[in-house]
Amino acid sequence: MLKDSFGRTFPYIRMSITDVCNFKCGYCLPNGYQVDKSDNRKFLHLDEIKRLAKCFSELGVCKIRITGGEPTVRKDFFEIIKVLKIETEIKKVVITTNGYHLDKKAKQLVDSGLNGINISIDSLDRETFKNVTGHDRLPEILQGIKNLQDLGFENIKINAVLLNGINSSEKDFDKWSNFIEKNKVDFRYIELMQTGDNLEYFKKYHVSSKIFKNYLNKNKWIYQTLGKDAGPSLNYINPEYKGKFGIIAPYSKDFCKTCNRLRITSRGDLRLCLFGNTGISVRHLLQKDDQLSELKDLILKQMQYKKESHYLELGETGSTKNLSKTGG
Ligand code: SAM
Ligand code: SF4
Repeated sequence: MLKDSFGRTFPYIRMSITDVCNFKCGYCLPNGYQVDKSDNRKFLHLDEIKRLAKCFSELGVCKIRITGGEPTVRKDFFEIIKVLKIETEIKKVVITTNGYHLDKKAKQLVDSGLNGINISIDSLDRETFKNVTGHDRLPEILQGIKNLQDLGFENIKINAVLLNGINSSEKDFDKWSNFIEKNKVDFRYIELMQTGDNLEYFKKYHVSSKIFKNYLNKNKWIYQTLGKDAGPSLNYINPEYKGKFGIIAPYSKDFCKTCNRLRITSRGDLRLCLFGNTGISVRHLLQKDDQLSELKDLILKQMQYKKESHYLELGETGSTKNLSKTGG
């Protein structure tokens, strides 16, 4: 089992399979994806992804989240999901996506055996969605959710980055409340995080998630405790609603105490935290099946370097220029 010096265990991996993205979210890639000329390494190959998953499952990992960039832009995206599902022991394979062409991809996603999907939707207002992401695609994403539900797919989560004055009013919260009243999805607000690239944006739009917490308390939502491989969200339930609400507040005092995940970047670096500089490339040990035990040793040794906190509250962003690099 992967364990760090603070007693935290890591049953959950977030693996980025590409830095490329087709959206232009203001807080992440406002000018769209640009090729990183300082790093000409290719994105992880299917065989490398498979070896990593096998290694992690032997180290006690039961859940892998595939993310990016936008993971679905990879031509072999569905093959990756299938290989993880069929050829490895990982129990839960889930993805985070911006929902591009979700209406068309819903059936294939369900057929791939995927265990869960997180879809990013910053606003239920079409114009606001377009302004934040640079794409007028809210209707196709909402249709995609409906298609998934019609096919009986259960584990759907929606993430929105909380942006002051853009999607942070009671009216915005009410819209989501109406949505989850009728839809069995978990909706979560993520507090905007500062990265190397977005300081001005952060200063302008960051707002504490307490405003949403106060809304939940006022409207009698009940706090629910976390499961072993749960994500970082604090969840709230209301028996009259089909869906749940959640808050992901990386600046909150105890956020890192419950950290249960490690990350792999699209080029095969192990990252011990979304932020900070700790992590090394493990790619040289992904080239042949017989490197498995060496790979396991290297990852286990790295665990001693995991820090207690990301120190985001001190303005620390480490080497994280934007979240498309490490996978949010
Ligand atoms: N492209 C996919 C998507 O948008 O869902 C997956 C990758 S994206 C980096 C993963 C998540 O990180 C998204 O929900 C996105 O909204 C969130 N994110 C990106 N930059 C962020 C930031 N600076 N602060 C908080 N969340 C951020
Ligand atoms: Fe792309 Fe996701 Fe970043 Fe938006 S948040 S630009 S969809 S990687």
